[in-house]
Amino acid sequence: MKISEILSAKDITISMEVFPPKTMDNYEKVARAADAIASYQPDFMSITYGAGGGTSEHTLKIAEEIRRREGVETLCHLTCVSSTQAKVHSQLARMQEMGLMNVMALRGDLPADGTAVLSDHYRHAVQLIEEIRQTGDFCIGGACYPEAHPESPSRKEDLRHLKEKQDAGCDFFTTQMFFDNSAMYSFLYRAREAGITVPIVAGIMPLTSVKQVARSQAMSGTFFPARFRTMVDRYGSNPKAFAEAGIAYATEQIADLIANDVTHIHIYTMNHPKTAREILNRLVYVLGREVLGPVGPAASGAGKTDPIGSSGIIHE
Ligand code: FAD
Repeated sequence: MKISEILSAKDITISMEVFPPKTMDNYEKVARAADAIASYQPDFMSITYGAGGGTSEHTLKIAEEIRRREGVETLCHLTCVSSTQAKVHSQLARMQEMGLMNVMALRGDLPADGTAVLSDHYRHAVQLIEEIRQTGDFCIGGACYPEAHPESPSRKEDLRHLKEKQDAGCDFFTTQMFFDNSAMYSFLYRAREAGITVPIVAGIMPLTSVKQVARSQAMSGTFFPARFRTMVDRYGSNPKAFAEAGIAYATEQIADLIANDVTHIHIYTMNHPKTAREILNRLVYVLGREVLGPVGPAASGAGKTDPIGSSGIIHE
């Protein structure tokens, strides 16, 4: 099913994200974590694309497995970075063969060491979107930035390019992570004023370790409100307390977004089923879902320690 159909059919949607392993050694671990997340039946799952190569080989395989094993619709990311026209066409052809019809078209992150190559065909995501639209009947997603993309000279300019992506054939947008919901509300207002009419999915990143805070800031340039920074000050030296508070923060963001009619939520679950489950179990009544049981040890996170314990949250 196309993601655009899921977004228009359902009042509230929750999607989740996994990233493929960098090497084949970790493939099974990631596949198990992806299956565990899929077993929670999110409305769809997105699988990122390693712009620098390496992980890109596994994006379609994981997407196909999630769909076949768990019946969850998938969204395959694809980037301009490191892509030639031939590579894009072969990736799209394989998607068609595998019955995968949803693609997230991105420019990709440019590695700081300058190793990434941008071909003349794909300088910006809009060119990739145009090409995908001409190639087949895909549902196309694009990225958007409530606080503007860090390279943008202004918010206005950023929105102008966002509109170009919609005009080129984007069916929906997913936002970069944000930690201040008011930034999202003001972005939505400005986006609608600028003529963006397609659904905009709010991207929420549950930060469960202090290390992730600096990384997220460096990657997205996002603003951390005082309420978040206080949490870092208080719990920063206590990993378990920080993880608990990070989950609570993300949960509260989602509850507030839904209360304000921003009802399509994407959780950057980062291969951590327990994080996904903790959030869902804190919102069973808000989302109208069943309470989920504990995750088995085999799928408790791929390659990294998941700081959240395996005890479920009790709902009476
Ligand atoms: P673009 O839309 O090309 O925008 C990049 C910048 O160029 C912006 O400042 C924009 O305003 C400007 N711009 C756009 N069009 C033009 C134009 N025609 N002329 C001049 N300027 C223009 N990265 C990965 O490597 N793999 C992933 O799987 C991945 N998934 C992501 C998922 C989401 C939801 C998000 C929000 C980001 C993701 N990223 C991923 C990161 C993303 O690749 C980076 O944020 C990247 O820097 C920009 O990608 P974009 O598609 O928004 O690029």
